[in-house]
Amino acid sequence: MFILILGAPGSGKGTQGKRLAERLGIPKIATGDILRAAVRADTALGRQAKRFMDAGNLVPDHLILDLIKAELATPAASAGAILDGFPRTAAQAELVDRLLADRGQRLNHVLLLDVDEEELVRRMLARARLEGRSDDTEEAVRNRLAVYQRDTAPLVAHYAPRGNLHRVPGTGTIDEIAEEIRRAVGR
Ligand code: ADP
Repeated sequence: MFILILGAPGSGKGTQGKRLAERLGIPKIATGDILRAAVRADTALGRQAKRFMDAGNLVPDHLILDLIKAELATPAASAGAILDGFPRTAAQAELVDRLLADRGQRLNHVLLLDVDEEELVRRMLARARLEGRSDDTEEAVRNRLAVYQRDTAPLVAHYAPRGNLHRVPGTGTIDEIAEEIRRAVGR
């Protein structure tokens, strides 16, 4: 089963994605985690991606599309995965659709975690103090939210006609949100 978790930065995609992946026994693929690891390891991708990430901008598709292709091609992801943080642009969404369709698969569920903007900012600035992510400065946070609205929120219109888009309120306890997700996914 392939499940996309869509939501603004700070909406809890990572937290809920991890729980869902553990519960369903399928891997979670998070492009943000992969990119941060690439930055730490100082790989060619990491060196190119860092300045976009620090500013809260998307890493350009020409750097991301091959990464997505490689991640979906791993044996671990052959039967399913939780997609966290991608697709994030129309080009990425088209690539994921095509890669899965070529294998006779599809995105079974798209979960949209809904959290209002002030709560998102509050969460990210709180997290900044705990995790020290270099893109959790107030300026980068505001920009990440604007980029989400501009480039990623339109994907809702791409998925909505398929009838498997579920809006999940992203406020409440972690357990409450996980329960809403369980209901939406039906297992
Ligand atoms: P958040 O959802 O809080 O922004 P992520 O870990 O998903 O956190 O992403 C952090 C940053 O990594 C993004 O701001 C962007 O620069 C980069 N990034 C992650 N995934 C993608 C992607 N699919 N396409 C482009 N850039 C990405």
